Formats: sequence, structure tokens, C-alpha cells
Amino acid sequence: MFKEDCLFCKIVAGTIPCNKVYEDEQILAFHDIAPAAPVHVLIIPKKHIDSMNEVTAEDLPLISDIHRVAIELAKQLGVAESGYRLINNCGPDSGQAVQHLHYHLLGGGKLGALTG
Ligand code: 5GP
Ligand code: ZN
Repeated sequence: MFKEDCLFCKIVAGTIPCNKVYEDEQILAFHDIAPAAPVHVLIIPKKHIDSMNEVTAEDLPLISDIHRVAIELAKQLGVAESGYRLINNCGPDSGQAVQHLHYHLLGGGKLGALTG
């Protein structure tokens, strides 16, 4: 549930501050500290999950809820019509830097092409 050495668990616990945009019992969303777009919000489960690889069937309602929150936030932050991206990085090749499942909501300007 809570991982001692995890940055995002500390943000959930409130021991590291964040600029919060959404919170419910299971989900927290806050502005990225180094925004890659005019709107850059991170949406995370409060429960510690290392990455998408560790998502189980039991977690699927939570993943669905994260999607719902992303849609609500896109509207609230004014990017629903102009367009946005919801991204999850999983594992070394993706550049996942924080080992606590999170989704990037990016928008507010023309986004670069996806590479791979
Ligand atoms: P990843 O590369 O793991 O998909 O994304 C991690 C994201 O977390 C990065 O965009 C990075 O800027 C953001 N981040 C890292 N440390 C902090 C922090 O202490 N607070 C906030 N709000 N974002 C952070
Ligand atoms: Zn964690």
C-alpha cells in the first residue's frame, strides 16, 4: 500500500508537497514539477503499484477510474476540446523514472509527434 522509499507514496502521505488538482479516496492528481507542456498533470493511484506491469484484474476498476478522472481534468483544465494526451511510461525503455504507477495528462498546446 505505502512504499517507504517511494516519492509518490510520500506525496500521497503529504510528507512531500504537491500542487493538487484532484483527490478522492483512491486517486490523486497534481501538477508535474517539470511540465513538458502548458498543462502537465500526473494522475496516480494512492495505492502503491510499481508500474503497469503489476496492474492486476483486481485493479482494473481503479484504472478505469483514472481514465474518468483524466476526462474530468481535461475539461476542468480547458484542454478537452483543443486536445490532450494521456501517457503511461512502463519500464526502462520508456524512461519511467518514478516506480509508482502514474499517467501524464498533457495538453494546452500543440504536442510533439510520438516517437518510438
Ligand atoms: P516518468 O518519467 O516516471 O513517467 O515521470 C515522472 C514524472 O514525475 C516526471 O514528469 C517528473 O517531472 C515528475 N516528478 C518527479 N519528481 C516530482 C515531484 O517531486 N513532484 C512532482 N509534482 N512531480 C515530480
Ligand atoms: Zn509509491
